[in-house]
Amino acid sequence: MIHALNIDSDEAIWQGILRSSVRSVVELKHLLELQESQIDWVENPEFPLQIPRTFIQRMEKRNPLDPLLLQVAPSRAELNSFKGYTTDPLIERDFIQSGGVVKKYANRALVIATGACPVHCRYCFRRHFDYAANQLADFQKTLETLAGDPSIVEVILSGGDPLTLSTSKLDAFVQHLEKLAHIAILRIHTRFPVMIPQRITPAFVEILSKTRLKVVVVVHINHPNEIDDSVHRAIQQLRSAQIDVFNQSVLLKGVNDSVGILSELMFRVFEIGVVPYYLHVFDPVAGAHHYDTSEKTALALWKKLQAQLPGYLVPRLVREVPHEAAKTILC
Ligand SMILES: *Cc1c(COP(=O)(O)O)cnc(C)c1O
Ligand code: SF4
Repeated sequence: MIHALNIDSDEAIWQGILRSSVRSVVELKHLLELQESQIDWVENPEFPLQIPRTFIQRMEKRNPLDPLLLQVAPSRAELNSFKGYTTDPLIERDFIQSGGVVKKYANRALVIATGACPVHCRYCFRRHFDYAANQLADFQKTLETLAGDPSIVEVILSGGDPLTLSTSKLDAFVQHLEKLAHIAILRIHTRFPVMIPQRITPAFVEILSKTRLKVVVVVHINHPNEIDDSVHRAIQQLRSAQIDVFNQSVLLKGVNDSVGILSELMFRVFEIGVVPYYLHVFDPVAGAHHYDTSEKTALALWKKLQAQLPGYLVPRLVREVPHEAAKTILC
């Protein structure tokens, strides 16, 4: 019984943190002790501000250019529109099947598990995605789609962030999934270990350790300041269950577009047991033009980065080109 009580209270802790996220620009300004003259933020009801306090704690007060803040604060620049910056830059609408399954690449199917996230990253390429119409609300349809395509070896839970689903819902999904003989790998793309590390509960880790599926977790860290002891502990929980953890980052102007920051990031993630995977060149999504760096800048940065790092810490520089058979590896 005590065990069951712990499961409930662990679940209540991260759900409480998620629920009490900061959702107003006024409160954000107040918490970070910023002056009105230092900021240029807007309320954007289409993609509202949402930041967990556990992440805000890692920001520097009175610094409007804090690299963590810049990822999540809604700048007035979001209201500008630019040619070529669209609501669906990867043309995912062409690949969506029943139950929120996106099958673009051989052997792998991505599942839009939910539209909810632990944070709203202002540069998100799915910030305009129609989650209401395409997600695993009841995962019957999702499982039917996956069962009907024996070419699928790996299922990638994405979103939104799949770890916003309750632990019991994830448990039920994994149990159904492992009954499909052709599925060998379960991959989870999540920002929770960084945003709300308390999400990595013993009960969640238990689900991943007991399944017959090979489990891979891909986290999303853009700046070394995102990593503190709580993040380290969450990653350790996963690693202690023999789960491989990789990191993907997005190259963002003003946040991490420097060789010094990127090389520090790769060393820091390695220190906590995570292997660098991808460095994404920005996807041209409407409302986020102010984060974009040119591909030329990205290539030049990557070359310098490679010269600073051991080969095993160099992420692949990739771009998503709609309708290509894989992500396009630039370097
Ligand atoms: C990125 C992505 C994948 C995974 O690609 P990898 O190169 O294996 O990381 C799978 N499906 C979709 C739709 C994707 O966007
Ligand atoms: S957590 Fe991921 S899906 Fe959610 S807003 Fe951030 S980048 Fe987008």
